[in-house]
Amino acid sequence: MTTSIGIDVGGTKTLGVLVERGSGGVSVLDREQLPSDAASPSAVDVILRVGGTLLERNAGRGIEGVGVGLAGFVDLDGVVRAAPNAPGLIDQDVRGRIEATLGVASLADNDANCVAVAAHRIVAPGARHLVAVTLGTGVGGGLIVDGELVRGAHGFAGEPGHMVVDPSGPRCPCGQRGCWERYASGSGLAWLARQAVARGAASSVAASAEDPGGVSGELVAALLAAGDAGAAAIFDDYAGWVALGVANLISVLDPDVVVLGGGVIATGDELLVRVRRIVADRFPAAGGRRDVAILAAPGGPEAGAIGAALLVADPTRPS
Ligand SMILES: [Zn+2]
Repeated sequence: MTTSIGIDVGGTKTLGVLVERGSGGVSVLDREQLPSDAASPSAVDVILRVGGTLLERNAGRGIEGVGVGLAGFVDLDGVVRAAPNAPGLIDQDVRGRIEATLGVASLADNDANCVAVAAHRIVAPGARHLVAVTLGTGVGGGLIVDGELVRGAHGFAGEPGHMVVDPSGPRCPCGQRGCWERYASGSGLAWLARQAVARGAASSVAASAEDPGGVSGELVAALLAAGDAGAAAIFDDYAGWVALGVANLISVLDPDVVVLGGGVIATGDELLVRVRRIVADRFPAAGGRRDVAILAAPGGPEAGAIGAALLVADPTRPS
């Protein structure tokens, strides 16, 4: 039985979980969440507060360490070197500050790598090859190949959000145009909805928004659940962009399993069902000849935090 803490730093909030892993599986025993701003260096102070609160509240449980999932290009020393969606984290030694301040072992990794680890240990333990894609403020990725987490030469492997899918597309904070995450992230869903509203193609969505220029992904998801046809058309378009990147990843990596995580997965099966169908129908090279399971990440929005906890408890074993 091992007990460890995992912390996931999102764009607007920082979530920590206390995870116990034993023969009965993985369970979350406690959680703590605080608002945070990943654009500000204060994001690290919030990480320390969340970790400190969980350690204090669970003193005596023999907690092995605090793992952190960070949204950005995390190098092999656990330092964020680039973070288009979380600039406050750049060049911060998160692991070092946790060890110095909280007095526990720590580890920092890319947040989607953490989701890949959680998925590999919880929903697909037999998979040799797994791709995790997180659909949040941006699009993150984590790759497990031959049972090992792939980090690449510099630690930056598995960043499919910045694969260019349309060179004349909208500008991305990374400096390119038409990155996959401009379309396939939660922010991309909102952008696609605003484009549809601007073309006059989604009058029901425009009518439901207080400010048509501020249509959100959450509004589209709520209208979709209520059976709105305009929202369904936007969501179909969105799922097509998600499926495009998933099909490309399948073509490159030939995985057993693709796991989708992040806030958009909170729409339940709506996205998974569409992506499975579109990959099979529209991308025969990826979907037609293979049996690739496309599944939701475990723990919903807690997948990254759970994975960070599992990784710090056993960093040598991604599977
Ligand atoms: Zn980009």
